[in-house]
Amino acid sequence: MFKDKLVLIIDDSTTIRSYLKSILNPLGAQVAGAATGQEGLDMCKNAHYDLVLLDLILPDMDGIQVLERIREKNTTSAIVMITGHGGIRSAMAAAQQGADGYLQKQELTATAQDHSEFLYALQQALEHRAGVVAQQQLEKMRADFNAMITHDLRNPVGVILTAAEMLQAEHIGQLSLPQRDLVSIIYSAAAKMAHLINDSLDLARIDAGYLRLERERVDLRESAVESARLARLQAQAKRQTLTLDLPGEAVVACVDAERFKQLLDNLLSNAVKYTPAEGQITVQLTAQNDQVTLCVSDTGIGIPPEQLPHLFSRYYRITGMATRGVQGTGLGLLIVKEIVEAHGGDIRVESAGVAGQGTRFIVTIPREPPSPAAKAASQQELELRQEFVREARRHVGDLHNLLQRLSDTPHDRQLSESAQRITHTLKGDAGVMQLTEIYNMATDMDNLLRPAARGDLALSPHHLAELSQMLNQLDRAIAGLNK
Ligand code: ADP
Repeated sequence: MFKDKLVLIIDDSTTIRSYLKSILNPLGAQVAGAATGQEGLDMCKNAHYDLVLLDLILPDMDGIQVLERIREKNTTSAIVMITGHGGIRSAMAAAQQGADGYLQKQELTATAQDHSEFLYALQQALEHRAGVVAQQQLEKMRADFNAMITHDLRNPVGVILTAAEMLQAEHIGQLSLPQRDLVSIIYSAAAKMAHLINDSLDLARIDAGYLRLERERVDLRESAVESARLARLQAQAKRQTLTLDLPGEAVVACVDAERFKQLLDNLLSNAVKYTPAEGQITVQLTAQNDQVTLCVSDTGIGIPPEQLPHLFSRYYRITGMATRGVQGTGLGLLIVKEIVEAHGGDIRVESAGVAGQGTRFIVTIPREPPSPAAKAASQQELELRQEFVREARRHVGDLHNLLQRLSDTPHDRQLSESAQRITHTLKGDAGVMQLTEIYNMATDMDNLLRPAARGDLALSPHHLAELSQMLNQLDRAIAGLNK
């Protein structure tokens, strides 16, 4: 694994540099050393290292700064931070800046005879980076391609819409009844397509992390009136009543007016779509001191309570008799949630799942944007945690599969090894995130799997039952992080 790998150790301690060299040289790695951050940066300019071991505190600059500057030009080297006394802040900052691992010096010295843990962590970092780079390139190509196609589709659809509108207005000449029907079919199909295209462009923006808001002071009552005007047209076709319940005085908030209207339009169009003829739809706006609350309720088909947690997921649609024939992409609510969250707000949904009792969406939004510093800190932590949950979910799924396969072939060493790798990674990730409960569970599983992964022991049915019980607990603990 380390044969012919170019390794750079940036650490001001000669002892540590020599110590690490003494471990890595015999494995065939070519190891170079730098005593300061600047020296390390210069060396990185002149050569491409496969692995950089970087001390957190250097005489001339902070290790995180060095990491940041290496990553500006180089995303392919694996970088592992090495620290004397770590803390969650520095670990988080390191992960955020693209470090592939985080080790404490005590871990090196405490196991002076046995370096397997340390080497394993380095190996994981090397493999992880290679995987991440390949995946990122692929993802980027795919996203660019999708965005290009979607964007290019917008113009021709716009042209079709305008042409159909002109025909409908009979500027060009009078239409016969069958001609008018055909034009109306063309118009509504093109409008649907425009809707789809806009949703997927929004989705691409969300994925790329730039659903940017253009905030201005807006009287939200005006937005509600405007959205309701459009929704009434759709509601009238189903003989539904749409009621606005607005406060007497202005409800001023600093929001992106376009996006706020888009979220209202989405909630209202859903209310119309999922409420049968003659139903009732209500929009209520209330103002508190520093926040506003918007409720959109209907007397429609309702949503079964067990489906509520999935409602804001990508492409999620409820299938069944009641929704048969209703057109949709399953993206609307995801976009609504992103808009609400970009405003620092929150969205909830209530429904008893009983037809006629309907559904209620409740949105709360702060009137003023949060201060940039508070926003950045909480955003950073939130993103890191979300990333962890996503990864951990994937790991749990893979572990489920591996355990299932192991119950048929408990002697398969490769399977045990793959499972152990995953528990090791989970343990490391949870450690960096300081999620003690998850760290402990992953450690227990890792310890149980290790002898089997080394080939010292085959897993007994008892071990497998224990592992699967632990995995269920782990799964619950990870799910609990989202609450
Ligand atoms: P769609 O384009 O399918 O409407 P959304 O993301 O807007 O996508 O909604 C997701 C799913 O949630 C819908 O397919 C529908 O099953 C359900 N849903 C949304 N709003 C309501 C509502 N007001 N009443 C009942 N079901 C709803």
